[in-house]
Amino acid sequence: MDKIEEIIEQLGSSKPGHDFLIWLHSPNGRFSTQSAWQCVRTCSPEVPWAKWVWHNAIPNKISVTMWKAMYECLAVDDRIHKLGIPIISRCDCCSAGGYEDLNHVLATGEIAEKVWQMCSMQLGMPNLAGRRWRDRVEYWHRRARNSSQTGQILE
Ligand SMILES: [Zn+2]
Repeated sequence: MDKIEEIIEQLGSSKPGHDFLIWLHSPNGRFSTQSAWQCVRTCSPEVPWAKWVWHNAIPNKISVTMWKAMYECLAVDDRIHKLGIPIISRCDCCSAGGYEDLNHVLATGEIAEKVWQMCSMQLGMPNLAGRRWRDRVEYWHRRARNSSQTGQILE
């Protein structure tokens, strides 16, 4: 133990200049909160279509809505119902007023169906009427990746 301290003192005294700290997690040796965040954060598995959701061409509010939908945390009546709070659900998107859940608002409701139908025609993609929102988005993602023309439009 004494020998170790002796060696450290000799090494330190033989070099000119002052000691300074080096942050090993950045290329330039300087500490930054960004590099510290990279050290402590927990990375979850990459979502296959995350790059589409967070694409620069998509407005932020749409990206946030899609991200919330992916993790089923959109503010819909169904979430309140699942928390055990009794609620009578009636959507604002249909003339008859359906039960408001994620799939109804984003895929199967009257307005959502019209939007999907219009986008399907414009982009030459199949309209998967009646299918769940996630199924439709994943299908479109797979299809667009394989089809260069549609992929260029969406990507
Ligand atoms: Zn509706």
